[in-house]
Amino acid sequence: MKAMYYDAFEKTPEIRSLPDPTPTENGVVVKVEATGLCRSDWHGWMGHDADIRLPHVPGHELAGIVTATGRGVMRYKVGDRVTVPFVSGCGRCGECRSGNQQVCEAQFQPGFTHWGSFAEYVALDFADQNLVHLPESMDFKTAASLGCRFATSFRAVADQARVKGGEWVAVHGCGGVGLSAIMIAAALGAHPIAIDISEEKLAFARTLGAVATVNGRDTDDVAGAVKEITGGGAHVSIDALGHPVTCFNSIKNLRRRGRHVQVGLMLGDHATPEIPMAQVIGHELEIYGSHGMQAWRYDAMLSMIASGKLQPQQLIGREISLEEAVPALVSMDRATDLGISVITRF
Ligand SMILES: [Zn+2]
Ligand SMILES: [Zn+2]
Repeated sequence: MKAMYYDAFEKTPEIRSLPDPTPTENGVVVKVEATGLCRSDWHGWMGHDADIRLPHVPGHELAGIVTATGRGVMRYKVGDRVTVPFVSGCGRCGECRSGNQQVCEAQFQPGFTHWGSFAEYVALDFADQNLVHLPESMDFKTAASLGCRFATSFRAVADQARVKGGEWVAVHGCGGVGLSAIMIAAALGAHPIAIDISEEKLAFARTLGAVATVNGRDTDDVAGAVKEITGGGAHVSIDALGHPVTCFNSIKNLRRRGRHVQVGLMLGDHATPEIPMAQVIGHELEIYGSHGMQAWRYDAMLSMIASGKLQPQQLIGREISLEEAVPALVSMDRATDLGISVITRF
């Protein structure tokens, strides 16, 4: 198969021919039809993810067609159109048994713990517990965009932050996660505020439901600006970027008893950011992480997509080839693209 491959961190990946994967006993092989490019892939390539063993094939936001199944797989067959959350649970540990496969103790992550989907084929383990059948009406590139950023945002907004209609939701960073969070919060009847340093991204956020925007480049006091707009602070705030500044502002701009959700990854030098803990205590703030979403929760998200309340296809930016994904991956930390880039040509 053709795949993107690297044998050293920070070294430009190559496109090369590798052996086709074979399924594990409880796994499948999927022919990749579309796979999204994500900041986590850049973190992995930089060497920030301890799960990655070299050499490596990245890619974790995928959709495609099952081409082979292991003997133990009962629920999926060759020809099925599927996607998968970027964290697949083992199905056996305590977290999986409690329904929290997204924090499984033995998790399978394509593109991190195993070779991923920047390739013609990808092997996925624990298939029965984690694959999701795609509705016929959903195309592969939209489905690929769900696996990481959209689903993680859905869990962050709907499940972790428990956003309700009428609440103010501040979203720091308008990349794929942030724009998804704005769309989902608006669909739940909340009032999202978009915060970014790009006017173009803020304008896009308004088309997806943001009722107000703050440009961090023109504003000395981002938290103050959010408090002003919301009359005292946001009920919910999300750091969708993953940076010490956005993390701090996201907690700082909350009203009393507000909820912060950290979705943007904090890795490398950013792993232990400063947090205004006195405010967390005095104002009884709630601090959450959000790490993917369980396959069994996809039904709620897919039904909102089927009804048109959520339109993740609006978040898709460029469609690119596997070759074009190489420069896109290595420059991801400086990316100015609007929306999600998806590889659709292999
Ligand atoms: Zn598990
Ligand atoms: Zn991702």
